Amino acid sequence: MSEHTPARREGGASASGEVVRQTGAPPTPAGKRSSRLPGPAQGFGVTFATMFKKVTTEEYPEVPKQTKPRYHGRHVLNRHPDGLEKCVGCELCAWACPADAIYVEGGDNTEDARYSPGERYGRVYQINYLRCIFCGLCIEACPTRSLTMSNDFELADDDRQALIYTKEQLMAPLLPGMEQPPHPMRLGDDEKDYYVRDPQAASPAQQAAEPVLEERA
Ligand code: SF4
Ligand code: SF4
Repeated sequence: MSEHTPARREGGASASGEVVRQTGAPPTPAGKRSSRLPGPAQGFGVTFATMFKKVTTEEYPEVPKQTKPRYHGRHVLNRHPDGLEKCVGCELCAWACPADAIYVEGGDNTEDARYSPGERYGRVYQINYLRCIFCGLCIEACPTRSLTMSNDFELADDDRQALIYTKEQLMAPLLPGMEQPPHPMRLGDDEKDYYVRDPQAASPAQQAAEPVLEERA
């Protein structure tokens, strides 16, 4: 044996054809079994024992799967109680995403067309669910809690384009008392009334719906 020939390989067969285990245990001589039962009996023994184990078959989709409350599912772009969007188009979620799954383009609010309190809003917002690994880093990065994750996990599709969700698909639905943007700020004179001073204008129905819409890690 030359000085470059390894004494034992990490797995598979050695240079002489002897079976070498990956563990530190000594190799089993070829043809010798650890059990005294013949090979077929060992194999059917596994099958036989499995027959008496508890069945774990899920009856999905007939019986919908109940996820944990903090499950990371499809994203939601949330709204303020008057219907204005919480997203300010800052792109922090896109920068935080390790999979490069988020695309954001910000736009300027004007007095004629206001989509969020303050100066900016998310004009274009897309999440590519072909890339997303549901890690939740994006919702941690969002400074306005615009972006959260729901419990919806039924995202499978056979169309790649359909798995790039647009802003319209991600926006939270309008609840009673909300108004479809663009519209003026209804809860104060400036954005501090939304972000610093907590608006108390939310109806009981909106407040009850908030935990559902903002389910997160
Ligand atoms: S959950 Fe993770 S991978 Fe998916 S969009 Fe957010 S940061 Fe990116
Ligand atoms: S979702 Fe949040 S982090 Fe992403 S652009 Fe909108 S405000 Fe910024």
